[in-house]
Amino acid sequence: MKNVYRSLLLALLLGFGASCSVEEVEPSNPINGGTTSSDATATQDNHLAMGNPSAAGSSYSNYLVSKPQYVMSYNSYRGTPNWVSWHLSSAWVGSTPRQDDFRADTSLPSSFYRVQSSDYTGSGFDRGHNCPSADRTLTVADNSATFLMSNMIPQAGPNNQQTWANLENYCRTLINAGNELYVIMGSYGKGGTGLNGYKETLAAGKVTVPNRIWKVIVVLPNGSSDISRITTSTRVIAVNTPNTTSISSTWGSYRTTVDAIEAATGYDLLSNVPASVQSTIEARVDSGSTQ
Ligand code: MN
Ligand code: MN
Repeated sequence: MKNVYRSLLLALLLGFGASCSVEEVEPSNPINGGTTSSDATATQDNHLAMGNPSAAGSSYSNYLVSKPQYVMSYNSYRGTPNWVSWHLSSAWVGSTPRQDDFRADTSLPSSFYRVQSSDYTGSGFDRGHNCPSADRTLTVADNSATFLMSNMIPQAGPNNQQTWANLENYCRTLINAGNELYVIMGSYGKGGTGLNGYKETLAAGKVTVPNRIWKVIVVLPNGSSDISRITTSTRVIAVNTPNTTSISSTWGSYRTTVDAIEAATGYDLLSNVPASVQSTIEARVDSGSTQ
């Protein structure tokens, strides 16, 4: 009997070893500067390493909220974030189950309306995560932080459950292949179409339904000194989708440039990247793999 358990344990250890070796695959796009090696360890890095896109601070329309799991610009007039920025690598991912504890963010100033989970009930829109639940599964605290209503937007179901879910899953395939990502997600405009039709606000005007939902993803092989490793050949994926039920599940068809998102929002994305590099990577539409 003891030998059976020993064999089982050995099999488990071997299996674990095999899955670890995925991390050791040579990155497909090694870049000079900083430290990148084929066996670089994934770490948890600064969520705002790429910059603060809207110079968020203490303004009620552009209020900086900094949490261990992500950083955001919160807009108290919209009842949603303007944008949320987070670092993603395999160092953020574990086996914590989805907590599903949607709740008001009581860390917001008491002068702000704190959006309640029930404010979305019956609206025809999902409580759409910015920083996804599945990107924060190392600890219960990490996963639970993604369910704060300050991390949500009213998102049309097919956008959230198909287009966006596919993009989020693709991001995690990139980290499983030995990359680390900087992800910035945001929304703007007013009015979207959910299961109960077109709406501009929820909760008697306290929550604005965004018209467009975008994401910018910077892809680097695992390593240190991340900002210094960004070059004109670094992969940057920019996506901008309509907040509507009539949407393709193929996120790749919504690819655009960072420049276009900057023009639409007035933000300066990736502002910590040297200007000469920004101008190249922000003008290019990604044409890489989408699955
Ligand atoms: Mn790093
Ligand atoms: Mn920029």
